[in-house]
Amino acid sequence: MAALEKHSGSDLQELDKDHHLHPFTDHKALHEKKSRIITRADGVYIYDEEGKKILDGMSGLWCVNAGYGRDEIVDAAAEQMRELPYYNNFFQCAHPPSIELAAMLKEVSPPQFNRVFFAGSGSESNDTIVRMVRRYWDLLGQPERHTIISRENAYHGSTVAAASLGGMKPMHQQGGLPIPGIVHVDQPYWFGSDRSLSPDEFGLLAARSLEDKINELGADKVAAFIAEPVQGAGGVIIPPDSYWPEVQRICNEHGILLISDEVITGFGRLGEWFGADYFGIKPDLMPFAKGVTSGYLPLGGVMISDRIADVLIDKGGEFYHGYTYSGHPAACAVAIANLQILQRENLVERIKNDIGPYLQEGWRELGDHPLVGETRMLGLMGALELVKSKEPLQRFDEKQGVGTICRDFLVNNGLVMRAVGDTIVAAPPFVLSHKEADEMIDITRRCLDLTQEAING
Ligand SMILES: *Cc1c(COP(=O)(O)O)cnc(C)c1O
Repeated sequence: MAALEKHSGSDLQELDKDHHLHPFTDHKALHEKKSRIITRADGVYIYDEEGKKILDGMSGLWCVNAGYGRDEIVDAAAEQMRELPYYNNFFQCAHPPSIELAAMLKEVSPPQFNRVFFAGSGSESNDTIVRMVRRYWDLLGQPERHTIISRENAYHGSTVAAASLGGMKPMHQQGGLPIPGIVHVDQPYWFGSDRSLSPDEFGLLAARSLEDKINELGADKVAAFIAEPVQGAGGVIIPPDSYWPEVQRICNEHGILLISDEVITGFGRLGEWFGADYFGIKPDLMPFAKGVTSGYLPLGGVMISDRIADVLIDKGGEFYHGYTYSGHPAACAVAIANLQILQRENLVERIKNDIGPYLQEGWRELGDHPLVGETRMLGLMGALELVKSKEPLQRFDEKQGVGTICRDFLVNNGLVMRAVGDTIVAAPPFVLSHKEADEMIDITRRCLDLTQEAING
């Protein structure tokens, strides 16, 4: 029986080509080459089919925060599957793992959050956001408060609603997105501007593009503003200090809901439990996913503040929304085991006081390389801007694909990081040791040299 055969090597690559269409992939381009097949992983390292060891500077897709090879997470899943592999939370039912995880999430979240709504991924969580925000205003008798404001170049997922919330032009161009009722304002990307303003002046200007949009639409038409505390997939865009306080002021003044998409920043990535803690903002809703399980099983959800939960509960009426796998027992058991690891090993504080500052220092030193126009890193989330010239500052023509050239050198030299245009981004696991951090910086420096040689030669 085919399913029981053990395939390996080029055999696997052929099967992949014949039977598998990959996510976020140019199918024609991949069809002409071969996929890299990852077969196992341990700590911060992944290993491919040929046994090549690669430091995972992206934690998978920003998710394997506790690192690979955590037996206690695996055991938690196995035990739960033996006890109760599945039951739903519909029809007035619940089960111990979803209840225990809900209580645990309350413990680690900012004080306005006492409740959670479970989903299966970040995209689903943001679909829930769109439904729930509109439900909230309907229940308050203000159904005309319908429009959700997001930002250019934001990433909120890949379903129809989540991709609409996102601000990625190439995604919108496929399939007529965004859906009605979702509009976009400026992102606080100072390095991507003409840099004629100071970062703080620029941050205020970006925040005020939100206020301009609210005034244009009329505040009584606006339901919510959604943003990532630090834009991840868009290129690790860390806003100037002036940005978030101004956004908070604007949301407060116009009475609109503030949604902090914590899918990457949630559960410690910035050295605080949530991005909202780091920036001192008070969101009404926080979608999360990725790091909640360190990627061992899929799980997402939305933390719901009392402002919203009180209305849903007091006004009543069925909210016709939920997923078969909302609060899946094995996924919840995995999340509990993962959060226990973060707590017991003080991994969040470790990012703030130890490995965060340590990696940041090495990262900053990469700024002296002639190819690097800016370095930035908050917690364990960083970016390098590759530039053609530093004085005067000139960026490459994107078509030259310098970011991709550099990314390929990195992977071939044993370090996964990602290229977003000519921005190289990193988000290593929280368990990264000092030695492994040194290795990251060394490989990066070497690959910057190789990239320089490749484009000069
Ligand atoms: C990855 C991501 C999502 C989507 O999560 P999926 O689990 O891939 O659906 C949403 N928001 C942000 C900020 C993300 O980085």
